[in-house]
Amino acid sequence: MNLVQNIYFALGVYVDCSKLATEKNKKQLQQIADYIYEAIVHSPSIVIFDDLDSLISFSPDNLKSQSSNSSAIVKYLIDMLDEYRDKSHGMCGYGPVAFLASAKSLKCLPQELTSSGRFDLHVQVPGLSAPARIEILRQTIVKLHLLCTAEIISNIASKCDGYDAYDLGILVDNTVLAASDRLLGSSTVNLVEEDFLKAMRNFSPVAMRDISKFSPEISNGWEDVGGLSEVVNVIKETIELPLKYPKFSAGAPVRLRSNILLYGPTGCGKTHVVKSVAAAYSLRFIPIKGPELMNMYIGSTEQYVRDTFAKAAAALPCLLFFDEFESLVPQRGKHGTQVTDRVVNQFLTELDGVEALTGVFVFAATNKPREIDAALLRPGRFDRLVFCDFPQWNERLDILRVLSKELPLASDADLELVASMTEGFSGADLKAILTDAGLEAAKEAVRCQPGDGSGDIPQELPLITSGTLMSVASEARPSTSEEDRRSLREMFSQFSTSRKSSISTERREANGQGQRVAVAES
Ligand code: ATP
Repeated sequence: MNLVQNIYFALGVYVDCSKLATEKNKKQLQQIADYIYEAIVHSPSIVIFDDLDSLISFSPDNLKSQSSNSSAIVKYLIDMLDEYRDKSHGMCGYGPVAFLASAKSLKCLPQELTSSGRFDLHVQVPGLSAPARIEILRQTIVKLHLLCTAEIISNIASKCDGYDAYDLGILVDNTVLAASDRLLGSSTVNLVEEDFLKAMRNFSPVAMRDISKFSPEISNGWEDVGGLSEVVNVIKETIELPLKYPKFSAGAPVRLRSNILLYGPTGCGKTHVVKSVAAAYSLRFIPIKGPELMNMYIGSTEQYVRDTFAKAAAALPCLLFFDEFESLVPQRGKHGTQVTDRVVNQFLTELDGVEALTGVFVFAATNKPREIDAALLRPGRFDRLVFCDFPQWNERLDILRVLSKELPLASDADLELVASMTEGFSGADLKAILTDAGLEAAKEAVRCQPGDGSGDIPQELPLITSGTLMSVASEARPSTSEEDRRSLREMFSQFSTSRKSSISTERREANGQGQRVAVAES
């Protein structure tokens, strides 16, 4: 890490933790002790633990599995930091010793090491700007005696959001490999844009390894969404302005809303629509399931929330998606524990911070909206509430058309009739009908094979005839019973009415105090 190495040249003792990690445990501890001794002798000095996370195999996903090897190092570091904290103004004739560490993320280090009195001042190093990426690419290309126009370098750098210097170096290496066939026999290595794009196709920068970018193979964006036209319109309105006009959005006199809560019955396309948004706008996508987060990160959930928002801010443009949101931020007082209180508060802080950014969109989904803590639904937080209901006839037809696009459906298969037969079905139920019809057609094809096994193995999915589709549809039942649909309708309608009245009360109160409010309607 350049920043860290520069400090070393000015002041002190550099510990390359990635290298140290390859040594045996006993040797690691001995070497750390030697470095510290050296720092004391040369004090005033600074000890720099570069890539400390590579020495400590710590994962918040697996709090118990920290190896005894790395827990010995953590213990050693803690003892050392505690000991020198009190002597930081000098000791036994020596000057003070300071300690600095770098890591991929705060989350990669155990909390006891980053808490008060130890590595307790946390500085997030911002990602490379576009001009910096251009310069690094240019220097790397020159150093390797390659040729490339300034225009191509600039175009590629603009596509390398989230890449660090190390990633850019590897990208250039991979680009040379990608160009190798084209350049066979040529005496100069002239890189063209297509070589870079080829290299980028299977490459993700280190910081983005766990953040997917929705590629067209995974989702076709809006084309994959049937019905839900109102929902799609609200989302487009929210996303397009800040994405197309970032400068306008940053300087807008009113805060532009970028947080949406989708609510509605199960299987009605909430998650599906969010994935399509990510694909439609090529957003980096960070999906998080509420219950998994709460179970996995007990004790550090709020830190995970903080880190996730920081990660999103470093990966612009980015869509953060919290599914089953009510489990993450339940009403305090009702289901509240100290943990949920802290998580809710952390969310409020992060959402208030997000308003300053353009390019981070926070979406959440729930089918129990009344269980969400009311503070999250106040203006400026999740103030855009979007209802995804059971589809009407025309929406069911649209969903059936979208979902059957890739299926070998007979041309006389009557999707309008299927839409009429499926009142009360969710999008997921409609998908199940088409899947079952496909399976039925496959079974039919197997049944038609000669019994002695001499038939050809079918290479493609067999045709789904109108008869097969009708027979499956007439036997299908919606996953939510009529009675349950009625009570759900009542529950969602009560929620929506309560939101409207609480919003208008807040608007009145705020106006009474002469404040400007950015209020959303549900
Ligand atoms: P839950 O509340 O249980 O999480 P959900 O509302 O998020 O449910 P999804 O997971 O989005 O439901 O939907 C399940 C599947 O149903 C999707 O993967 C998709 O294949 C299909 N589906 C649902 N709605 C639509 C739609 N409007 N257009 C196309 N496909 C849909």
